[in-house]
Amino acid sequence: MPEVRQPPPDGLPPLREVIAALEIDAKKSLGQNFILDLNLTRRIARLAAPLDTTTVVEVGPGPGGLTRGLLMEGARRVIVVERDQRCAPALAQIAEAYPGRLSVHLGDALDVDWPAVLSSDSCRTVIVANLPYNVATRLLIGWLETEPWPPWWSQMALMFQKEVAERIVAQPGSKAYGRLAVISQWRATPRIALTLGPEAFTPPPKVASAVVTFLPRREPMPECSVQWLGRVTAAAFGQRRKMLRQSLRTLVADPLPLLEAAGVAPELRAEQLDVETFARLARIAERIAR
Ligand code: SAM
Repeated sequence: MPEVRQPPPDGLPPLREVIAALEIDAKKSLGQNFILDLNLTRRIARLAAPLDTTTVVEVGPGPGGLTRGLLMEGARRVIVVERDQRCAPALAQIAEAYPGRLSVHLGDALDVDWPAVLSSDSCRTVIVANLPYNVATRLLIGWLETEPWPPWWSQMALMFQKEVAERIVAQPGSKAYGRLAVISQWRATPRIALTLGPEAFTPPPKVASAVVTFLPRREPMPECSVQWLGRVTAAAFGQRRKMLRQSLRTLVADPLPLLEAAGVAPELRAEQLDVETFARLARIAERIAR
């Protein structure tokens, strides 16, 4: 018996047909690996539930697989930012099928002033995206470093290459532990919620992917400035094999008083410090610099 394909439940054409009709051949330079299975995109959408009282920000909707998943799962409003103009007709068709619920912005997500885009919106906001791999960590760091804190987003569910997801949740003492883990875990509670093989995407990427969920910590402890946390981790992990008394010289002329004030043994290396200790070092370093 030949396989009978059910039409998508939202009444819109299957994504494969949309992509073929608009001739959206995937561009590597835009990190285009599309998810065509709406059951899967609905599953990703549910990671950010409840959606019916929520505004969702999605970066890189492409032909709209995840966008449709979010809307089918009842998202009150979805705001998408897409750089590839070829996707505009597909997104316009989705907007028409869900009147008043989808806003489409064509442009580079790295240039977006998010609070301005959301200015008239006062309900819970989440970020859900299958991120383009080439700008994924830049976007993530921007959302984690946002000021003032607590941030404008209440939750994020973001797809990364699995190796990047592992760096986000890495613990001290592991090879994957570095700057990305420290900023992610200082400001939020990242968890790997879903892992997907290359076959879930069209075209399939070379590596596996994973969705990481983030809930913001209301008050990151201990408190320090995000700039100083960045400076300390850049210095410490910039020379991660060296002892801190050496590596922190790019931050302060003599690291010993700083390390002593923070109660950190000068012989330790960056990957041995937990997130709390990095934040303590950052706070004291800022005080010393003033
Ligand atoms: N959301 C779709 C899905 O899951 O099938 C597509 C995800 S694909 C991994 C990444 C998308 O991000 C592509 O549609 C690409 O054109 C878009 N993109 C790449 N760089 C971008 C940028 N700087 N700003 C906005 N969108 C971008």
